[in-house]
Amino acid sequence: MPSAITSRVNITENLQQIHHKIAGICQQYQHDPSQIKLLAVSKTKPADYIQQAYEAGQRDFGENYLQEALEKIQALRNLPLIWHFIGAIQSNKTRDIAENFDWVHSVDRLKIAQRLSQQRPESLAPLNICLQVNISHEDSKSGLELSELEPVIEKIRLLPHLKLRGLMAIPEKLDSLEAQRKTFAQLYNTYQQLQQKYPQLDTLSMGMSGDMEAAIAEGTTLLRIGTAIFGARNT
Ligand SMILES: *Cc1c(COP(=O)(O)O)cnc(C)c1O
Repeated sequence: MPSAITSRVNITENLQQIHHKIAGICQQYQHDPSQIKLLAVSKTKPADYIQQAYEAGQRDFGENYLQEALEKIQALRNLPLIWHFIGAIQSNKTRDIAENFDWVHSVDRLKIAQRLSQQRPESLAPLNICLQVNISHEDSKSGLELSELEPVIEKIRLLPHLKLRGLMAIPEKLDSLEAQRKTFAQLYNTYQQLQQKYPQLDTLSMGMSGDMEAAIAEGTTLLRIGTAIFGARNT
């Protein structure tokens, strides 16, 4: 049952505000807003919210929970949406992900990449992937350590049905802009170094509703925004 609060969410207005905010922050830090993709994170939100966002011009949507995501993908299959999987990946779920998504941001080990490549249908374009980096070195968080990236990339490059696009991170929650920037700067440096060696990398997936200023300041190319578009989640 939708609560009174969630049913008052004005998604069109929220999207306009987010674009306005991104433009303002870009101006402040002298970045080009056309270089930043907005991913609308729709986890726990109903398909009609996604449809509203689509009607307001949004095309890329991010989901964390596979079963829920598959239902929405099915319900909205007539719309030309681009689906991104951004949640934790269990290896027995890779087939559904490989068959139904356009992007996966949360590839955190070689085995998952191998399975995704193997299971990606030949009829579809290669699956776009980002490697998830455990940038805050939290034991509880999934992701590769910085030192593991190159050896993993060397193997992933050879997988025929994947297209490696870049890096993704979910840093620990930090309150100050300065602390957030420091973490994102570290990720940006790594990304830039890897780009020298692997020029096909074009995506740095960093920044959510609570840290988008820091992410833009440090050179994000893809913001993953949920709450600021669809309202707070009850879960
Ligand atoms: C939920 C989620 C987001 C969006 O978070 P908000 O704070 O609601 O903007 C972004 N990235 C990942 C990986 C998430 O799980």
